[in-house]
Amino acid sequence: MKRTVRIFNTKTQSIQRKHPWIFSGAIKSTAKGIEEGDIVSVENEEGEFLAKGFYNDGSISVRILTFENAAIDNAFFRNRIGNAVDLREQLNLFRTDNNICRLVHGEGDQLPGLIVDYYAGVAVIQCHTYGMYRLLDKIVDALKFVLKDRLIAIYSKSSDTLPSQFEPIDQYLFGEVTVPHIALENGISYAIDWVNGQKTGFFIDQRENRKLLGEFARSKKVLNTFCYSGGFSLAALKNNAALVHSLDSSKKAIALTDQNIALNKFEKGQKSIVADAMQFIKDLPEDYDVVVLDPPAFAKSRTKRHQAVQGYKRLNAATIKQLKPGSILFTFSCSQVVDKQLFTNTIIAAAFEADRNVRILAQLHQPGDHPINASHPEGEYLKGLVLRID
Ligand code: SAH
Repeated sequence: MKRTVRIFNTKTQSIQRKHPWIFSGAIKSTAKGIEEGDIVSVENEEGEFLAKGFYNDGSISVRILTFENAAIDNAFFRNRIGNAVDLREQLNLFRTDNNICRLVHGEGDQLPGLIVDYYAGVAVIQCHTYGMYRLLDKIVDALKFVLKDRLIAIYSKSSDTLPSQFEPIDQYLFGEVTVPHIALENGISYAIDWVNGQKTGFFIDQRENRKLLGEFARSKKVLNTFCYSGGFSLAALKNNAALVHSLDSSKKAIALTDQNIALNKFEKGQKSIVADAMQFIKDLPEDYDVVVLDPPAFAKSRTKRHQAVQGYKRLNAATIKQLKPGSILFTFSCSQVVDKQLFTNTIIAAAFEADRNVRILAQLHQPGDHPINASHPEGEYLKGLVLRID
């Protein structure tokens, strides 16, 4: 059976611009028998080859792997993953004081639907499409081939990201280590647990922003809300912050933070608080100098965008209102549908609502190991601002 999908000639433009998604509205016909996860060739109305990718039932019908008529085999994955690892080497992320990074970032590494995070020798794979999940053996082969002795184990974790109908199994596919596993980010140790933690166990995308926060935190009183495993708190404590309060609504998250604080012997000056951030902010127990707001994504789809914007505005206005003059606020959004400009406008509106003078000192974003494919601007999701509240 030839697995082909034909698209309308009027819809080939996005492929010419190398955008990696084909929406269902572009599809003219689908060969009989094609199922979710199959690798299909995409053709125009005349049957000329345009691209190859995974077929999905849903609004994104094809996720493109290549615009060349190449086999999707072991060599293909060795090449793509080799290229991804080269980039992380260029970014100098494999060091004696840093062995945590994102190795593969989906479309940003021309591997749609695939995330691979690296924690001191352990690669944790997360598949977002069934097509990618079916090719796990090729991904494992490529990781072993490319990483060689930098690899001690591979864990596959797709039960959170794939529908249960595909019966994803979370398991080691090579080697095995006990969790938590200790890994380093910019000289700070973290106990990472991909088996029980959120996502692959750690939010790698805030690495550079944590480092910047550390610069602002020397001898200062810091409040880190939505702290999860404590990344911003540890960066502040490493730089001798006078006091750090770490807050999360999840007891499990606070336990992770406490574990990481103990691991680095940073207990002095640190306190963990289980509370709702919005409630806590209304009545601050300290006059903090530096505050972090890093909430989970408020919008997972375009239809929720307006609601999300209102949520960011409320949270930021309430915080800005409470902060003393001269304080610094690190505020973030990881909602992909709220873009940089919309987020900035929302924060400006929040400052207005709080009736405070606010200056933007820095614009923050996702780091280089979460690259944005220039043909796929949708890959940009993390943005933040460093504000001075006067
Ligand atoms: N800043 C973290 C990542 C944040 S993830 C880091 O650097 O690793 C978002 C966190 O927000 C999760 O841990 C979640 O438990 C927490 N959270 C969600 N809703 C919350 C609320 N209303 N109040 C406080 N924490 C909340």
